Amino acid sequence: MSFVAEFNSLPLGSLVGRARDCTVSAARESLAKDKIALADFAQLISPAAGELLETMGRRSHSLTQRRFGKVIRLFAPLYLSNECINNCKYCGFSRDNPILRVTLSVDEARREARALAAYGFRNILLVAGEHPKFISNGYLAECVAALHAEIPSVSLEVGPMETADYQPLVAAGADGLVVYQETYDRAVYSDMHTSGPKRNFEWRMETPERAYAAGFRRIGIGALYGLADWRYEALSVAAHAEYLLRNCWKASLTISLPRLRPCAGEFQPLTHMSDRELVQLVCGFRLMFPDVGLVLSTREPAKLRDGLFPLGITLVSAGSRTEPGGYTGAGKEHLHQTVRGRIVETGSSEWATNGHATNATGQFNIADERSADEVAKSIQRLGYEPVWKDWDTALTA
Ligand code: SF4
Repeated sequence: MSFVAEFNSLPLGSLVGRARDCTVSAARESLAKDKIALADFAQLISPAAGELLETMGRRSHSLTQRRFGKVIRLFAPLYLSNECINNCKYCGFSRDNPILRVTLSVDEARREARALAAYGFRNILLVAGEHPKFISNGYLAECVAALHAEIPSVSLEVGPMETADYQPLVAAGADGLVVYQETYDRAVYSDMHTSGPKRNFEWRMETPERAYAAGFRRIGIGALYGLADWRYEALSVAAHAEYLLRNCWKASLTISLPRLRPCAGEFQPLTHMSDRELVQLVCGFRLMFPDVGLVLSTREPAKLRDGLFPLGITLVSAGSRTEPGGYTGAGKEHLHQTVRGRIVETGSSEWATNGHATNATGQFNIADERSADEVAKSIQRLGYEPVWKDWDTALTA
């Protein structure tokens, strides 16, 4: 049975009710348990459990240190392309946004990877929009093979594929696949994804299973907070993680907690999750999933990130750029602007010109603008070791 079937039979309505209405004493009972079930998780993310946040934080902190040690792993996103055939209302790369677009050549991607390696990164996430003409499977496999020769750990965040299409990417050296459901609320999903193959909610939901079948060693999931009720999303992510831990147990699993950021298209979040609720959610995930990696990106500001690191976060991006060529300026020569998917003369849209019309447009604005080195120093100041490399191909031999 795929997760879709399990998701369809989840009592999400009553779990969300529990997450809204539970009392402090019921939340305390859940917090006292060694093994947190989905119903306990619902109580731990309730407003009532917010009153127990200090205790949750202490438990989450000590559990993370016992399972992961005093280390925080670093990675950087490397955007290969911002071409996309989908319209996702919340994303700067949406097909209809009039932005500056480019797809890096393999050599340009290599230049970007070398720049990241010079900063110290040995773990990169290749990101691309979904556009079969520009971002074919063959192109991705070539990029992975070229970059894996220099960077030990290469993961992908690209349009969902069939298992057979993932296999050449794994063979080329990709070890991780990240795919966010964005929202687990079908009605909101349908409203947000107005055209393109991403409209298929269930196809996307089954992507981690296809990726696992293809041999990816790391699987990353998550919801984009700001689209539907955050407790509903968190419960769905938790159920999805439980399923993957049961059925895809050979892979290591990570959960990301991205909140919406400003981007081209000026989409405004539909729902709000406060900083304090984000902290509570990190603790809730950690208490339910002691061994699952929790990922925090530069979408969050420096001060909040530093506060969250010791509470359960195990993997962080740093010094990130969200445009192709962002680290070296690679690809500037073949930038083009598109309007409703058609290439036009470069215009004067604020997002397209980026003030100086020299770079491709980014996916969203980042909030933590520190360099990778500054983030690493901050991690050290907190008493943790920043880990740039946690895997080597020799380990799989
Ligand atoms: S979220 Fe992904 S699929 Fe949607 S427009 Fe952005 S890049 Fe394309």
